[in-house]
Amino acid sequence: MKETNFLHKMYQNICKDTGDQNESSKLIVVVRLLILTMIAYSLLSSGICLFASHIGGLAFCQISAVLFLAIFVLSYRSRTFVSFCVLNVYILIWIMFNVVMFGWNIGVQHFIIVLLIACFFAKYKHAAIKISYAIALCILRIFLFFYCQNNSPQIALSAEVNNLFQIINTLAIFWSISLIAYIFSTDTQTLESKLVEYNEQLKKQASIDPLTGLYNRRRTLEYLEKLLKAPQHQISICLCDIDFFKRVNDTYGHDVGDIVLKKIAETFRKELPAGTFVSRWGGEEFLLIFPISNGDEAQVFLGTLQRKIKEIVFDGGSETFSISLTFGLVEHDFHSDLTTILKEADEKLYYGKEHGRDQIVF
Ligand code: GH3
Ligand code: MG
Ligand code: MG
Repeated sequence: MKETNFLHKMYQNICKDTGDQNESSKLIVVVRLLILTMIAYSLLSSGICLFASHIGGLAFCQISAVLFLAIFVLSYRSRTFVSFCVLNVYILIWIMFNVVMFGWNIGVQHFIIVLLIACFFAKYKHAAIKISYAIALCILRIFLFFYCQNNSPQIALSAEVNNLFQIINTLAIFWSISLIAYIFSTDTQTLESKLVEYNEQLKKQASIDPLTGLYNRRRTLEYLEKLLKAPQHQISICLCDIDFFKRVNDTYGHDVGDIVLKKIAETFRKELPAGTFVSRWGGEEFLLIFPISNGDEAQVFLGTLQRKIKEIVFDGGSETFSISLTFGLVEHDFHSDLTTILKEADEKLYYGKEHGRDQIVF
């Protein structure tokens, strides 16, 4: 329990922001984790030097650890950019020292790649500086290579110790690169999935009526246009309208009117066959599209629907009430365009309204 508390506190401390709004909080976390990696590396190297009785090497590793610790403290007291630059400069000096002291074979020069990656992931926009830095790092690496060709290391390590250092360096470098890539890539991944989700939401909002959850007129026109362009089956379309809906609003209030609209939408979804496109055409008018049914089949579906809707008992407060709809049904003849077919459905609906309502006109 105590251990988990300690780890949690440590994690919180590492993630502590510099408080500067203009700076990314991810970079300071990377900087601190890199410093901690370097401290661990220096302590481990000290152990190896002690084990191999290399007093010079031991002193060098100890001093390195202290200086890394100093930069760690600095990361809480100065801006991220300053800590990042100081760490870069110090690691560069540290690499050069290491190469001069222990030679090329321990592989410490590969830390240059860590610096290169950190530099490009850091969200500062100075592309020219980044490219110049990359070129400088490349030149430094080549320079160190030729330096080692012509000079022997100050501290000659035995083959075993050389191998140990090689392994530690490989681990530290892989760990550092993975750390940088992981921390910065989670940012991009989260952002990307948020964007996809947001786009989906926008798409939905643009095609759904918020009150009833049915498709709106915009989406319906889109769907119909596509459907009528290349009809594969017999298509039927029905425009329907709640009878005397104004009276519902006037008698029981607008809120009850809204409840009626929602309940009607729910009944459409429940009673009509799967594949029926149900939309709120506007106000208390709905457009139902049967993409694979002829007029006779659609009429049967509408008959059931008409009955089910009339059976619903609405609570009007002081009394209950029920409602009916009038339906204007059209079978697509494979020739008519969108405007014609909608006009025809509207005319049939109007005819139904004029001739007693509560009926299916086909
Ligand atoms: P008819 O049988 O001829 O269709 O009569 P009606 O009363 O249904 O038709 P009218 O066009 O006179 O009235 C429609 C009413 O629908 C008026 C309007 O306030 C109401 N309405 C439209 N949209 C909504 C809504 O979102 N919520 C509520 N509560 N009422 C709405
Ligand atoms: Mg009406
Ligand atoms: Mg109406």
